[in-house]
Amino acid sequence: MNTLRSLYGLSNDELIHSLSLAKPYQARQISDWLTKGVTSFSEMTNLSKADRERLTALMGSAISSTVVTQSGDASGALKLGIKTHDGLTIEAVLLTDERGRATACLSSQVGCAQGCTFCKTATMGLVRNLAAYEIVEQYVHLQRYSERAITHLVYMGMGEPLANTTEVLKSVRIFHDPQRFNIGLRRITISTCGLVSGIERLAREELAVRLAVSLVTADNRLRSTIMAVNKRYNVHELKDALLTYQRACGKRLTIEYCLLGGVNTDEVNAYKLADWLTGLDALVNLIPWNPADDLPYTTPTEAEIGRFERLLDRLSITYTRRRSRGQAIDGACGQLAVALNKGLEYHLITDDEDE
Ligand code: SF4
Repeated sequence: MNTLRSLYGLSNDELIHSLSLAKPYQARQISDWLTKGVTSFSEMTNLSKADRERLTALMGSAISSTVVTQSGDASGALKLGIKTHDGLTIEAVLLTDERGRATACLSSQVGCAQGCTFCKTATMGLVRNLAAYEIVEQYVHLQRYSERAITHLVYMGMGEPLANTTEVLKSVRIFHDPQRFNIGLRRITISTCGLVSGIERLAREELAVRLAVSLVTADNRLRSTIMAVNKRYNVHELKDALLTYQRACGKRLTIEYCLLGGVNTDEVNAYKLADWLTGLDALVNLIPWNPADDLPYTTPTEAEIGRFERLLDRLSITYTRRRSRGQAIDGACGQLAVALNKGLEYHLITDDEDE
């Protein structure tokens, strides 16, 4: 039985072997079509008719997934619900900003095992990791549905990318490959909840992508009540790993600080954050929590956010504030796909990969 589901994870050498191509240049032709987002062999017009028919008979289409829902909002945000080959739904989002950047927000897992209490995806648990080709396909779908050229990638959709490091890094290499999508590493960001082992692996790989870390609070005890990962890797171990990463890759870090009303916006949190940041080259990204059903948090008021910003100013912390682009289409990670996957039966994985 043919189990080849997608060509998006294959190198040109693997294309030759998997598709039994007679000539190496045919792999380059197919690869060029895939990069342009052409996934039907019948549209690959520089292949012979016989090859087009043979490849169609072999695997139908070059892509494993299909778009099942599409939504957008006035900010230019686009969200796609994407059905995988085994009937699960993941999400990919394209956000645009005032600087003209179009950022594809990609999922790395179906669901997530990390259990962050402010996150809708956490309520699904982990269903499975995505293969590299399924990550690349999200980009391909977004590019096909958008008139804007995608300029940046961020692994910040459903799932924890550093719990699926092997496939995530494989997809990064495909995106970066000059013969494929040719996206510069400085335009690619991996966003983690703080899996120290994954950060250390990234440092060893010397693949100089940008790194964003969801901190939420630098108060160790408080963080453990909000993010389960903190019981495994506390804020001190996390900081040590980030210092190691920064020494290896030399890039400024983004510290994602999700603002939870009445929880992490007071003076104590501001001082702890300032102390924790000492020695790190980092930009703090303030993200007012995006409301989600059934989760025990509130979005802070403008006055509360303003007070916290003034505290950060006083402590000379460099920060930016994310405006809520995409909010009208449930822009918080995982919200669409959680709704779409409701009612499906899962085989839940309890022990996720953590290399
Ligand atoms: S915030 Fe990210 S790591 Fe945490 S549960 Fe949600 S998807 Fe997983």
